[in-house]
Amino acid sequence: MSECTHDCANCASKCSSAGEHPSLIEPQNHFSHVKRVIGVVSGKGGVGKSLVTSMLAVSMQRRGFQTAILDADVTGPSIPKIFGMDDRRVEGNAEGLMLPPMTKTGIELMSVNLLLEDPEAPVVWRGSMISGAVKQFWTDTAWNEVDYMFVDMPPGTGDVPLTVFQSLPVDGILIVTSPQELVSMIVTKAVKMARMMNIPVLGLIENYSYLVCPDCGKKISVYGESHIAKVAMEQHLPVLAQIPIDPRLPALCDKGIIELMENDYLDATAEMLSKMKEHQ
Ligand code: ADP
Repeated sequence: MSECTHDCANCASKCSSAGEHPSLIEPQNHFSHVKRVIGVVSGKGGVGKSLVTSMLAVSMQRRGFQTAILDADVTGPSIPKIFGMDDRRVEGNAEGLMLPPMTKTGIELMSVNLLLEDPEAPVVWRGSMISGAVKQFWTDTAWNEVDYMFVDMPPGTGDVPLTVFQSLPVDGILIVTSPQELVSMIVTKAVKMARMMNIPVLGLIENYSYLVCPDCGKKISVYGESHIAKVAMEQHLPVLAQIPIDPRLPALCDKGIIELMENDYLDATAEMLSKMKEHQ
């Protein structure tokens, strides 16, 4: 991989100054001032990436930061439902830019499901259409002042996540895994992709780590012993959270009231994020 894929203005490399590799990063429009972009990635669907993205946005908004979510998981866009917004539709401003609907606590949200007439209709698009839509969510949305934007990335390390990483000025990525997966391989792939783009990996979040017995309080490793600590050590990454299987979480998502969550699962992650510098 010889091509520069990152925003050279934001890293220590000399690519752009040497005139060799123009940045592929799409500029923000003049309504948007997004200060930090965090990509949330996973190896496959169903590991809880959208839920983690949503809970992180809630945590950061609670800490007083203006937060936004760009739902780039176009073929499985579950974020609007988690916030009880699946009946909301995007409106435009006088300049033809999309205005991101706000959740009850003021988190800005953009998702393909807020554009579709029937949010239950499947999105059967080719990869290029998906990445085009995600790019447009970035360039054609009037995002206003945003301290933290979380991008719910499509699962895997294929074409679409690659294009999204090339087009958006991602400041760091969080990798969400579950104990059933081939964690070592998934993390290694995601780390390699991030390094190719010169994007720092901020840490690992393990979901479905354990179940707390409601009778005795004992932690049960439903999927066997976790390998996350070993993998994290090999890759020199921190484990930022180990989230239990918690039946209250899908209940909150189904009712669209994730903003009422009461847990500290992502406190350490939010603490780390709140110390991140702005990229511009
Ligand atoms: P992904 O975005 O990775 O495809 P989701 O965030 O949509 O996954 O999660 C898949 C399903 O699992 C959802 O119904 C979600 O509410 C549920 N879920 C995720 N994490 C947990 C958890 N820790 N405890 C219980 N249910 C969870």
